[in-house]
Amino acid sequence: MGFVGKFLICCVHFAVRGWDFAVWASTIKGSNGKEMQRKGKIVHPIAEKAYEDVLRRNPAEPEFHQAMEEFLGSIGPVLEKHPEYYDHALLERLVEPERQIIFRVPWIDDAGKCVVNRGYRVEFNSALGPYKGGLRFHHTVNRNIIKFLGFEQIFKNALTGQGIGGGKGGSDFDPHGKSDNEVMRFCQAFMAELYRHIGQFTDVPAGDIGVGGREIGYLFGQYKRLTNRFEAGVLTGKGLGWGGSLARTEATGYGTVMFANSMLARRGESMDGQTVAISGSGNVAIYAAEYAQKLGAKVVTVSDSSGWVFDEDGIDVALLKQVKEVDRARISVYAQRKSGAVFTAGARPWSVPVTVALPCATQNELDDTDALALIRGGVKCVAEGANMPSTPAAIEHFQNAGVLFAPGKAANAGGVATSALEMEQNASRCRWSFDETAAKLERIMKDIHDGCAATAAEYGEDGNYVMGANILGFTRVADAMIAQGFI
Ligand code: NDP
Repeated sequence: MGFVGKFLICCVHFAVRGWDFAVWASTIKGSNGKEMQRKGKIVHPIAEKAYEDVLRRNPAEPEFHQAMEEFLGSIGPVLEKHPEYYDHALLERLVEPERQIIFRVPWIDDAGKCVVNRGYRVEFNSALGPYKGGLRFHHTVNRNIIKFLGFEQIFKNALTGQGIGGGKGGSDFDPHGKSDNEVMRFCQAFMAELYRHIGQFTDVPAGDIGVGGREIGYLFGQYKRLTNRFEAGVLTGKGLGWGGSLARTEATGYGTVMFANSMLARRGESMDGQTVAISGSGNVAIYAAEYAQKLGAKVVTVSDSSGWVFDEDGIDVALLKQVKEVDRARISVYAQRKSGAVFTAGARPWSVPVTVALPCATQNELDDTDALALIRGGVKCVAEGANMPSTPAAIEHFQNAGVLFAPGKAANAGGVATSALEMEQNASRCRWSFDETAAKLERIMKDIHDGCAATAAEYGEDGNYVMGANILGFTRVADAMIAQGFI
């Protein structure tokens, strides 16, 4: 479209809704059934149109809408500054997954009964490289959840600068309470369909909630059996003896803390001496706690879906690993084994006064009431280890109160970044030491932090990491999509 065409489009927008951003208020219902209030979300007219199309074409997908709204609400300034992004049906293509695969997963339980679960893989965007993103096994998994995670993954992966596209998958299968043999049979049945769609140059899954080293092992074994290929780069998060990377297990949690440390450094502070609340007690939470304590902070909470633990003396990470990784027990067992630690059932850990909060469990686990409690308690930095754990209203409170806030797509990118380092080692058939890999992770997290901060400042929103992450990720993906034509 030429200059005159663009000028006419601008005039139409000016006449209809004003040159400035449109403002609307909306209320949506999350898949947990809770109302999530929105107010004053500012969206560029072109982005608003894209959002309206998403709502119309993807009904009843609240988390997907939420991820879209956060993203489309952030990129107004770049659309205004670079009208070339109006062309090429760019937003229309960006919000539509390239491919969505849904399949039946029949498997036999220990009682000999056939159980049927549903499997998903959403291959969202391959502009920057093969689709890359984890598999989630949890009873709450549905297409909406996988699409929101896949969409976030596109920009997270772009921020790493490592040439990986965005995808996500999973199943409503829940490994909790299943025997090892049941988990193995489920993983084999899941891979019996998934193997057709993945490959080291096509789509490279990894772990997420409910998918750790055990599940990746079973999935890889089945892929190898079906294809008769030891294609190490087809999955990441592998065991260290057969293609896995040192530091991958630690990477998401460590990276989140590195990001928080960089944010604090801009204000002349560091993690040293901070008091930290962490939610979750899985892979991300455990290694966030470990690294925060390595940097001199005191972590006083962890949680799971049954409740949370307060340990005033600081979480004993060795005990936490024993309870969650070895015994696969509930978090209340930590409090039973550690004197002075207190377990509270059916609640979340955000009421404790802390200076740093790291939500590391799941989406929408920190709402506006939690945010206000954290602000009253003196929080100055929040970095999301989980994907989209803070509701939009919570983010608004943090930003209005001047709290440093890092969205998951930036703060938890260390996991996928180290997965890409694993792919690099698989391709070159070499193996790096823990320190070498961790140093690369640290460099990548610093670059992501600095890139987000510089982009936010460039667009007049210094300190707004949500805007910085979305705009930086968007421009990288958008430029590649434009270069590759209408596909
Ligand atoms: P894990 O399965 O290892 O741990 C998940 C933790 O979150 C568990 O403690 C679990 O408790 C808790 N949890 C799950 N659902 C809920 C809920 N509805 N309410 C309260 N607690 C809940 O997963 P990860 O640690 O790998 O993932 C955690 C988050 O980090 C997810 O949002 C994931 O998408 C994100 N992430 C993970 C990466 C990785 O490398 N693993 C990379 C980037 C992001 P319970 O056992 O009781 O269910």
